[in-house]
Amino acid sequence: MSLTTPPRPHDPLEAVPELARFARSATRLHPRQGEPVETQSSVGGPLLWPAEEPWPLCRLEHDDQDITPFDLDLQIRHARRMSEPKDGRFDRMDFSSRLALSRQCTLDLVTEAYPVFDLLGPAPLIPIAQLFYGDVPGLPWADRYDLLQILWCPRDHTGTEYDAPYCPAFQLRWRRTDMIGEVLTAVPEPALVDERYMPNPCLLNPEVVTEYPFSKSLPPDLEDAVRDWEDRLGIQALYNNQTAVAPGWKVMGHGGYWGIIDPEPMFCECGAEQFPLFTADSGEFGGGSRSWQPIEEAGTEWEFADPVDVTIGRGYTLGLYYCPDSEHHQGRTEMF
Ligand SMILES: [Zn+2]
Ligand SMILES: [Zn+2]
Repeated sequence: MSLTTPPRPHDPLEAVPELARFARSATRLHPRQGEPVETQSSVGGPLLWPAEEPWPLCRLEHDDQDITPFDLDLQIRHARRMSEPKDGRFDRMDFSSRLALSRQCTLDLVTEAYPVFDLLGPAPLIPIAQLFYGDVPGLPWADRYDLLQILWCPRDHTGTEYDAPYCPAFQLRWRRTDMIGEVLTAVPEPALVDERYMPNPCLLNPEVVTEYPFSKSLPPDLEDAVRDWEDRLGIQALYNNQTAVAPGWKVMGHGGYWGIIDPEPMFCECGAEQFPLFTADSGEFGGGSRSWQPIEEAGTEWEFADPVDVTIGRGYTLGLYYCPDSEHHQGRTEMF
């Protein structure tokens, strides 16, 4: 299935043509629930992981706000999907049904003499995205790699110089598929997870779109020109909501919509500016970004608004930035 972002309802380039030089391509992933296998691009699907390579462990300090046993979460998700099958569509179960189901699953599990957890030991990460370059345009270092695997530790962390606090922590693997021999089948799983950071398995429908900087990141004269354009049309936040950055799960582009904190330049220790590599979002669109709903899904209301069902903070996004000079330089995460 191909999914298409509708033309922007208003074109700021007609009023501010200088914006054109700030344009960047982003690839919207358009994840939709499915049953991905390890040879497919996915969000929350299995990885094509070399059998001889150790699975990554998180050794950071945790500051959990809310944790759940890993397989309890899987059971709850499965029960929710089965409770009202809708051809893989998003099921927005009401809060009390969800709570009741969660309690029942907890009781079932406890009665099975659940194993003791090692709360303090290193915890295996879970797959977040597998991006084959052949499916997802725009990824860096295409001369050397044809596969990017993104994992995270699905718990809250205290935060470091590089990692946002109260967020899951990423690890990346850049690969060449022709170097992968036997594939790992017994994938380690964490004992405890935060339910908010557990993605539903989704297949991808990548689409390249054009993004522009968040208004406060523009040179002052262009920021003023954009505001004048919004004033003339009488629509507040029109540029940021409808033009600048696409909502939802995506790679590259201008990344996030600065809102929690003011925009700040992102630089690597080597001095190079860091760029958005991957953005995890709490949904594919919201009330203010409805115009980004794909043409092919027009009229589906909220069914495809949040197929992945991950929540960052209070419905924010988590941006993973990388250094264009080297894949070996430390990346950075920022919550938007
Ligand atoms: Zn962790
Ligand atoms: Zn660098």
